[in-house]
Amino acid sequence: RTPQRRAPGEFNRRARFRYVVPVMSGKGGVGKSLTTGLFAVGLRRAGMKVGILDADITGPSIPRLFGLRTPLGLEPDPATPAGQQPKPLMVPATSRSAIEIVSSNLLTDQEDTAMIWRGPILSGVIRQFYEQALWSDLDYLLIDLPPGTSDAPLTVLQSLAVDGIVLVTMPQRLATMIVRKAANLVHQLKKPIVGVVENMSYFVAPDTGKRYDVFGPSYADQVADLAGAPLFARMPIDPNLVALADAGRIEEIDDPIVDVLAQQLQRAMAA
Ligand code: ADP
Repeated sequence: RTPQRRAPGEFNRRARFRYVVPVMSGKGGVGKSLTTGLFAVGLRRAGMKVGILDADITGPSIPRLFGLRTPLGLEPDPATPAGQQPKPLMVPATSRSAIEIVSSNLLTDQEDTAMIWRGPILSGVIRQFYEQALWSDLDYLLIDLPPGTSDAPLTVLQSLAVDGIVLVTMPQRLATMIVRKAANLVHQLKKPIVGVVENMSYFVAPDTGKRYDVFGPSYADQVADLAGAPLFARMPIDPNLVALADAGRIEEIDDPIVDVLAQQLQRAMAA
């Protein structure tokens, strides 16, 4: 892999990412990371060049979905002016289907090393992942944001050039309140929400085919209304998905949901 040349000092990667799309959730545990992974797999199958910046630094789960554990490599800065000592820059990990991934979990070889970083350091690290990692030219850079609407995700949204945000929710009445808050914040930041995904919407028993609304009725339409964005999909609770995710083989998923997600996002970004 040969990193591309660029002008000295030019590390703002913005020009090389066609679309920068953070994935946000009102709270933790709604499946934001898994959904980010599914978007990436679907976009890749559609022939897009895709990267994931894992900005969920306190719970970085993207590498695990793709079975990646090897620490990121470093390469001398290819844009170092002659006569100067080159800075070492991070080389994104590459998944089996060539999705590029940068994550704090790939900075050490101990997957369970806890990262306790305060806000400013955290946003500095994410900025560095964004601007200085040796990404290829990408059609989509997806950003797995820290969960919730605290300072951490907001700093990320503020500091990066963002084209559109995807919001992931679960069917809970609380979701509408959280989404209202998220939508307000995003509105203040003047970044558009381009779509909503309701995850763990229901469960279909494999033996009987009976459908259960495990977390109660869907609020997906209200949430989409509040966000002012289309509902991309409602995803069921799927034990197969968990098995693939836990085995690091999310790219082997055999489910049209990944194509639906990719098509919806592509349509929204083209609009
Ligand atoms: P978040 O990033 O919002 O904190 P994760 O993506 O890490 O959430 O998901 C939390 C847990 O729920 C993970 O163990 C994940 O495998 C599981 N999960 C997420 N979505 C689904 C789903 N649709 N069906 C079954 N399990 C899911």
